[in-house]
Amino acid sequence: MHELSIAQNIIEIVEENARKLKLKIISEVEIDVGTISGVVPENLEFAMDVSVKDTILENAKIKLNIIKAKAKCLKCSNEFEIEEIYSFCPKCNSFEFEIIQGKELKVKSIKVD
Ligand SMILES: [Zn+2]
Repeated sequence: MHELSIAQNIIEIVEENARKLKLKIISEVEIDVGTISGVVPENLEFAMDVSVKDTILENAKIKLNIIKAKAKCLKCSNEFEIEEIYSFCPKCNSFEFEIIQGKELKVKSIKVD
């Protein structure tokens, strides 16, 4: 489960920011997770739960923002939702498209009381 190392990364990022901003307690962290980021949200949630012990995030609410993957067809410019990277345009069946969103995996915001 690679979500464990991702969770540890996220905690490190938050701790680094907290140090810079001299924050002692974080009340909420919002994390953007794209549906084709390769991360299973449930696994990440679990990984965060076990990893936050004895960190600045121990009592923080972890909020996952699921971002549905979208692509834009390079042939007909149609924009469509995709479930996986190997997909095709539902309008013209082209396999050539660019991912507009859905690969996100980042700390979106940190909240303090
Ligand atoms: Zn198309």
